[in-house]
Amino acid sequence: MNPEDKARNVFPFVSLVVLGIAFSMIWFYVFVPSDKNLKVVFCDVGQGDGALIKFPDGKIALVDAGPNRKILECLGKNIPFYRKKIDIVFLSHPDADHVGGLSYVLASYQVGRVVESGIGRDTQAYKSFVDIVKGQKITDTKAIGGAAFDIASGAKIQILLPRSTVAGPNLNNMSEILLLGFGKENFLFTGDMEKEEAGQVASLYPDVRADVIKIPHHGSKYSLDEKFYRQLQPKYAVISVGAKNRYGHPHAEVLNFLGKSGIRIFRTDKSGDISFETDGQMLREEN
Ligand SMILES: [Zn+2]
Repeated sequence: MNPEDKARNVFPFVSLVVLGIAFSMIWFYVFVPSDKNLKVVFCDVGQGDGALIKFPDGKIALVDAGPNRKILECLGKNIPFYRKKIDIVFLSHPDADHVGGLSYVLASYQVGRVVESGIGRDTQAYKSFVDIVKGQKITDTKAIGGAAFDIASGAKIQILLPRSTVAGPNLNNMSEILLLGFGKENFLFTGDMEKEEAGQVASLYPDVRADVIKIPHHGSKYSLDEKFYRQLQPKYAVISVGAKNRYGHPHAEVLNFLGKSGIRIFRTDKSGDISFETDGQMLREEN
């Protein structure tokens, strides 16, 4: 075999090795989560709430899932395709615009655990969620104010409210209020709480601060409590809301108040999915 033929024979093998190395490098850098940051994505689910939390160790939590299968678009964009597991799902309250999408999530992902307040509702959306959770034998924890979940190192989710499971006349005010803390950064998830429950957060947790607040009840004026905002001192407000919704959310009073308080507003109906990333010291908004 002359040297030219030899080179010709070796060439395909060398090319394959080089391609293999290149592919592994792309795989590693593109698909393997390598950072130490925590990411929160407020998904554009139309009129409703659904937020995804990606922890530094790769674990994933979901807070509500919007009204329908639209949540899956956001999950598909933010969860690596090879990961079909969501470690923990929190349900703020059983209204359809928060629970409706969970049936689709449970059909597409293996869910490790569900945490809800234990206050149910006699609606089709809530009943199908409960049936699937039972059918799949998923641990369903009923948690009230004071419970805390250490999900990844340095990251914690605390349930602030409600403190009881005795349902009052207004279920919005029984929303599970979650405080996600990672290093110096806090995010507050508020479900559809109204003024009464916002007042309770302010009076029962006077030391709590949060840079990012998911504005309660899609920006309804009945949820506006100025003391709550003065105390929590948010920099960013996220309004999870559908375009041209029939409730008139968000209300002008809420937008004016946030604007004059210097709180920067992000809306899912205008910006789509809204993302924040933090290393525990600094917060970066990527919108
Ligand atoms: Zn709602």
